[in-house]
Amino acid sequence: MAETTAPYTKEDGALWSPLVVQQALEQGILSETAPKGFIYHLDELEATWKQLFDAFPKNTLHTFALKACPLKGVLELAFQYGFGAECASIGEVYLAKSFGCPTDRIVFDSPVKTTKDLMQALNDGIYINADNFQELEKIQECLKDDNTDDKRPKKCAKVGLRINPQVGSGLLQETSTASAQSKFGVPLKEKREEIIQCFQKYPFLQGIHIHIGSQGCTWELLENGIRAGVELFVQLQELLPGRIKTFDIGGGLSADYEGLSPGASFDEYISRLRKSTPELFESSSLQLITEFGRRLCAKAAIFVSRVEYTKQAGDRNIVLCHIGADNFLRPVYLPKNWKHRILVLDRRGYHKRDRMEEQDIAGPLCFSGDIFAKGRLLPLCEPGDWLVVLDSGAYTMSMFSRHTSQLVPSAFGFRGGQFQLLKKEESLEDLVHFWS
Ligand SMILES: *Cc1c(COP(=O)(O)O)cnc(C)c1O
Repeated sequence: MAETTAPYTKEDGALWSPLVVQQALEQGILSETAPKGFIYHLDELEATWKQLFDAFPKNTLHTFALKACPLKGVLELAFQYGFGAECASIGEVYLAKSFGCPTDRIVFDSPVKTTKDLMQALNDGIYINADNFQELEKIQECLKDDNTDDKRPKKCAKVGLRINPQVGSGLLQETSTASAQSKFGVPLKEKREEIIQCFQKYPFLQGIHIHIGSQGCTWELLENGIRAGVELFVQLQELLPGRIKTFDIGGGLSADYEGLSPGASFDEYISRLRKSTPELFESSSLQLITEFGRRLCAKAAIFVSRVEYTKQAGDRNIVLCHIGADNFLRPVYLPKNWKHRILVLDRRGYHKRDRMEEQDIAGPLCFSGDIFAKGRLLPLCEPGDWLVVLDSGAYTMSMFSRHTSQLVPSAFGFRGGQFQLLKKEESLEDLVHFWS
């Protein structure tokens, strides 16, 4: 075993995935009757996480953005590793608690929290990032509410306010959140005075939250956004010394879908922040929070699909397989933005490299736009081959679409030559349950 484990520690899926698929085929994890699935390389996941924890100050609270990948097996590993949870809904809060995240390491972010959501989070002592002034008012109401038996919320409510620093959008409109008109947070440029008044008015307000976007944000954009928040922090420090206890810088670091580099480096991020916003690192009583998602798990997983059929239509080569908008919603709808690399392996899992042809990789859903890649130059596919979609660990299964009632696929973890089931393929009974 010792000799065969070495290749698996190579960082990029292009290098490790053929060997992993070969083993999956030998062990029956993939077969004609199990023609698709996600595989997470657990050592690679943890290697990425280590880079983050090594780069940032030790007392930083790193939360894992659940919406990138809510798989129990991945989250349990993350919580054991030391992550908290960034939750975008009360459902995600419940998942985080169920999978072992202590409530004092959960951050609840959502622009549309109901009174019920807020009461639940307050009762659990969960840190809340409020999105707007009306939500702050609602939290105030919840804290006044004497109908609850449990009075804890009153004493220990921890709330931050999400600020939109309005520094512009990144390369991708759809995932940018700091443009002037973004739906998220309170626009800093127009509402600075009101923001300050809120901190004076609500004693439970103790943190600043910024999340600038996801994928395609330049260093400059990230730095400018955080700089704007830090200027507010400095101003508040003078007016209300000691009030701001947390500064949440959000997530947003990119993963590299095109090449061999892992993506934006945590080391570079932290050294830039130390230069552009030293105030964040000067006081040991200021808690830093991060909320990375994509960068923590995109690169460590692959999606594998059997090629079921091939055909020619007009002048096009069409490959019919299981790679569609069910698991790859964004790449199918916005193919220019999300260009995953694809490997073609033969029926035994060996890399095919010759007979290059332009081919359309088409999925199983019943709309003609369900094309994962159009005219991609790849070795000519044949039925029984295996396609590997690299860098598939984030915002894939977590955005699953129920169109045509495809079954949610299985997911496996891989470590040291062994596979472990992270999630069983959905059953037909599960499907009936969903639609009932
Ligand atoms: C989605 C999201 C994140 C995670 O973003 P990534 O780009 O995956 O790092 C963090 N914080 C908030 C508020 C989010 O909405």
